Parts: sequence; C-alpha cells; structure tokens
Amino acid sequence: MSIEVQLKQLALAMATDTAMRLNVLRSQLQDIERQKLELQKKIETASQSSKRAEEFRPKSGIDYLCPRCWVQHCRNSLLRPIPSTTRQDIFRCGSCGAEFSLDP
Ligand SMILES: [Zn+2]
Repeated sequence: MSIEVQLKQLALAMATDTAMRLNVLRSQLQDIERQKLELQKKIETASQSSKRAEEFRPKSGIDYLCPRCWVQHCRNSLLRPIPSTTRQDIFRCGSCGAEFSLDP
C-alpha cells in the first residue's frame, strides 16, 4: 500500500472519529441550551417574586393559600391544616407540599 493511500485512510479514519465527536458535542450543546432556557425562566420568575409577594392574598374564602406557590409559580394553592403536637397550627400545601407552622 502506498504512502498516499495510507495517509488517505488515516484522514478518513480521523474524519469518522470527528463525526462521532460532533454528534456528542451537538448533544451537549442542546443540553446546555435547554439548561439556559430553564435558568432564564428561573431568573425571570425570581425577578418578579417581590412584586408577587406584595400582591399575595393569604386567604380565599375560608381557606388559607400557600405563599410559596404564589411567589414561585403565581399559583393559588390551598393550605390544609394537619395535626399538630405543639401549640402551633401546621398547614400543608396540597400542591407543593410545603408545611408552615404558624402561631394561632
Ligand atoms: Zn404550595
């Protein structure tokens, strides 16, 4: 086999390796872009949290509402009382599961 043919085969093998790495790199770039979008959404949500906290209404009818769901997701979620062994009232959010121990 001539040197020219051998060099050509090496170039083709390198190109095959590079093509396989290219797919991995594209996949990594897609993951990073997906993470970037998630971060941008979290930043946008966090930047509006103070405004939403000001707008939070802690009660709807006779039910208390979850401050976490409102501030983080702009969502009204009901709090349910759960049994307490202390002097505090404990409420659990039916949506996010957060618990709040509050003085009666
Ligand atoms: Zn919640």
